[in-house]
Amino acid sequence: MSVSFQVLGQPGRDNALFVKVDTGQAQTRLLFDCGDGCPHQLGASEGREVDHLCFSHLHMDHIAGFDYFFRLNFDRTAKENRIWVPHGSAEVIHHRFRGFMWNLVDEKQEGEWFVHEIAPDIVRETRFLASDGFRTAHGHLEWPRRNRVIIDGEGFVVEAILLDHGTPSVGYIVRELARVNVDTIKLYAKGLKPGPWVKRLRGPVATPGEMIVIGEVEHPLGALQAELLVTTPGDSIAYLTDFRMTKATADELAERLRGVNAVVCESQYRAIDTDLAERVMHSTAEEVAAMAARAGIGRLILFHFSDRYDVEARREMLRDARAIFANTSVPEGWV
Ligand SMILES: [Zn+2]
Ligand SMILES: [Zn+2]
Repeated sequence: MSVSFQVLGQPGRDNALFVKVDTGQAQTRLLFDCGDGCPHQLGASEGREVDHLCFSHLHMDHIAGFDYFFRLNFDRTAKENRIWVPHGSAEVIHHRFRGFMWNLVDEKQEGEWFVHEIAPDIVRETRFLASDGFRTAHGHLEWPRRNRVIIDGEGFVVEAILLDHGTPSVGYIVRELARVNVDTIKLYAKGLKPGPWVKRLRGPVATPGEMIVIGEVEHPLGALQAELLVTTPGDSIAYLTDFRMTKATADELAERLRGVNAVVCESQYRAIDTDLAERVMHSTAEEVAAMAARAGIGRLILFHFSDRYDVEARREMLRDARAIFANTSVPEGWV
């Protein structure tokens, strides 16, 4: 199992993040935002395989590359077409769907799109169909956001955090599920042979006193699970962009990001430009590094720099951030 990622776009330009979760049996591709040129960088074959397009928010620099993605997939039936946006944003996506002449489509077109609006307590789903040229917003399903999770995927979950950018901006955390393996050396050392019973061994935690029959002998299941199962925590990555690092947000992120391995986070401004950051509801490199140190994350990747900074200024921002949180980097070739 693995989680790999690639920051898309250029420094000072539009950006996005591509994440691939590979369980060994299944691969899931997640694209976070769709800035100008970003899905193009993935290319058509990878772009056609994206399972979820997760927007932070719909400012122009995050959706300017959407037409390319939509053109690849508008009538896709090989996978479900799922888009995630902050609450109140489905209308913008609907307008993007409708921004073409659809006179050549008919009921033979089977493309079906689900747009999910993420609100503090619920997720609201609206369905759109290629067969009617995306004219009608079909149905509005709503369900509660369970344990902060919005996507319950194969071998992973995605959680959402609503951030404040003057408009809601969604931060996302992808968490691979913990892996449970059987220590076969210990198993053989105990004189046991693998068989169908291993499925129960790896299954839910034993109830008190639960026994399991192996061969013709009964064994206490709880003791066997404690002895033979090895649990490895899954990998994790967070995507956070376009938000103001208020005290409340810093407190929330310190709690929500605890133990996350990699955090890809906006770094629009330098500390000397904090006034500007406050005015346009962005964060500075120092604020982001302080949050990383407080949350005890594994590594911080800064991206989405303002175009007012040249490469030398970006190097200084990286140095300033590293002074606060040593394991900070930027995408390759950005400084
Ligand atoms: Zn923005
Ligand atoms: Zn932005």
